[in-house]
Amino acid sequence: MPGFLDQEIKFLPGVGPKRAELLGKELKIKTFGDLLYYFPYKYIDRTKFYHISEIHAQMPYIQIKGKIRTMETIGEGNKQRLTARFYDETGSLELVWFRAIKWQKENLKLNKEYIVFGKPSEFNGRINVVHPEMETEEEKQLKPSGLFQGYYITTEKMKNKYLNSKTIHKLQLTLLQLATGKIDETLPQTILKKLKLISLEKALTAIHKPETTTELKNARFRLKFEELFIIQLKILALKHQRENKFKGYRFEEVGYNFNTFYNDFLPFELTGAQKRVIKEIRRDVKRNVQMNRLLQGDVGSGKTLVALMTMLLAMDNGFQSCLMAPTEILAQQHYQSLSGFLQNMPLKVGLLTGSTKKSERRQLHEELENGTLQILIGTHALIEDVVNFKKLGLVVIDEQHRFGVAQRAKLWKKNDLIPPHVLVMTATPIPRTLAMTVYGDLDVSVIDELPPGRKPIETHHFFENKRKQVNNFLRMQLQKGRQIYVVYPLITESEKMDLKNLEEGFRHISEAFPDVKVGMVHGRMKPDQKENAMQKFKSGESRILVATTVIEVGVDVPNASVMVIESAERYGLSQLHQLRGRVGRGAEQSYCILMSSYKISNESRKRLSTMVRTNDGFDIAEVDMKLRGPGDLEGTQQSGIGFDLKIANLGKDGEILKLARDVATDLLDNDPGLQQSENRILLKSLRAGKTGFDWSSIS
Ligand code: ADP
Ligand code: MG
Repeated sequence: MPGFLDQEIKFLPGVGPKRAELLGKELKIKTFGDLLYYFPYKYIDRTKFYHISEIHAQMPYIQIKGKIRTMETIGEGNKQRLTARFYDETGSLELVWFRAIKWQKENLKLNKEYIVFGKPSEFNGRINVVHPEMETEEEKQLKPSGLFQGYYITTEKMKNKYLNSKTIHKLQLTLLQLATGKIDETLPQTILKKLKLISLEKALTAIHKPETTTELKNARFRLKFEELFIIQLKILALKHQRENKFKGYRFEEVGYNFNTFYNDFLPFELTGAQKRVIKEIRRDVKRNVQMNRLLQGDVGSGKTLVALMTMLLAMDNGFQSCLMAPTEILAQQHYQSLSGFLQNMPLKVGLLTGSTKKSERRQLHEELENGTLQILIGTHALIEDVVNFKKLGLVVIDEQHRFGVAQRAKLWKKNDLIPPHVLVMTATPIPRTLAMTVYGDLDVSVIDELPPGRKPIETHHFFENKRKQVNNFLRMQLQKGRQIYVVYPLITESEKMDLKNLEEGFRHISEAFPDVKVGMVHGRMKPDQKENAMQKFKSGESRILVATTVIEVGVDVPNASVMVIESAERYGLSQLHQLRGRVGRGAEQSYCILMSSYKISNESRKRLSTMVRTNDGFDIAEVDMKLRGPGDLEGTQQSGIGFDLKIANLGKDGEILKLARDVATDLLDNDPGLQQSENRILLKSLRAGKTGFDWSSIS
């Protein structure tokens, strides 16, 4: 039976078919419930009144009391406007209307006290208020709309049809009156009591017309909690379902390969964080459940080595492993470094990429199928159907955000019955709060410690006027034998211009440093040209590499100790951090120099100062999320769990999220199928989502 909130919006008094269509098209509001869950994006304190003498154009909103003394219509046709001179005891200002002039003229009264509400602006050096809200004292008394007025986002199309924020607010008030006593509670009583949450009806009322700040705070808390709680329940249940569905191989043995490498060939001591993560992985692969673990760690934190140790564990249990990297350069680099580590071990590592020759390819395929090749490293080429393993036990995926969920799934299917364990490595640190939601169905391990002896990278921000000093500094570094990256942005909208900038930059640098070889790479080059330029830089033949962000991911040139980023204001924080991660890999002190123009937005300024302040990727990710909102962060599109937050903010509501996660975990521990009578009301909210999760399957 459809409930009160499921009724079509057109039946709400004041809506009708035309507005219903507009609400549906523009805001996806189709039912009473949709409207009620369309929350204000801000509130204005309507208790405060100003004097006209205090008003200036920079104030966001003002409320004043006074009278209109004169009114006149100025201009012709569609240039016509109505102006009114509005006075209080401290002065006067102008009110202006461009629309509905006739209606205003008929209804506004001279010398009657009005409350005027609106945004002040400046025109010809004088203050005015365009399209103010006008209310008489009596009207205000008649309409108890709460002391704080909610403001709603509306679209241009809606405004043209007079369906503005104020109209939405009125519709909300009408709806709330009808809804009294008809909004069913959606959370179990035990949770309401334990967390001292207000009822859903109270919360929905207060969110649209709060009487006090406390009321508003309680309403927001209750609604945010519920939103995050339902998401966590879904995620945890999915995870539970996956664990039941996918059996995993048991790696019980810690044997010859793992031990020999660890004891005899590992060239350094593992960091505490690496040891901890290896333990976490071992705990996973000992159970007969498929591992799905995300390994987060800043650039250079030693993730690859953890992957290698896990591969050795797979071998000790008779399984093959593969490692998939997003680019050819990275795959080769992994191949070289893993082959280097394993050179004295009796095992075989292969490399398969798009440019592997046909004959080699055939041999690789054969060795994979007969089991003589234990470790395969490669690019997307690994996923191709012709690649078959004898016994694939572990898949490692590097730089996760470049691969989609579908690609991950394809690798799982390389085995008929039991999927391999999956270890996903990412150097894009994701704040814990976000990881809990986005990767909620993966287990997350974090390497939060760099190998010892690394000197923190020194970062500086300069404007163009310091160019000469910067070049002098670069010259000094070159004299010390170091290599330098200079990065130019390449952003698709103006690709041509960017390319010009890059080529100009290349010329400038070649002129400024005539005695060294300068190389260049960018995304428009052919793969072999790119490869060639990278190789020359790696070998030290070229000393400066002018590049676009193609060098962003994973490239390892330990002697390159200076990174200059041009137009640094144009990059996102996580990209800046990734770029900076290209230096600081050797024993020398490394530097990152951010060049920007003078005119930069506050947000850019914040990004650059964050880069100067810290090297900690998680710290940077937190700032990034607060600046951009979580939706934009790389990786968030790939969770496979669609969610669209109406009120909670993952950047700001980390505490509430944590609470929601804990409560959801407890609840599912005690009542996994949500079959206890008081928990059953949750099933409705869970089914409402788009995850298509079958709740009957977990009970
Ligand atoms: P990531 O993949 O996390 O960016 P890598 O695994 O490539 O980092 O490691 C970066 C560098 O640090 C490599 O040269 C690696 O050999 C080295 N390394 C890894 N672990 C340690 C350690 N515990 N002590 C010293 N050096 C290490
Ligand atoms: Mg790496």
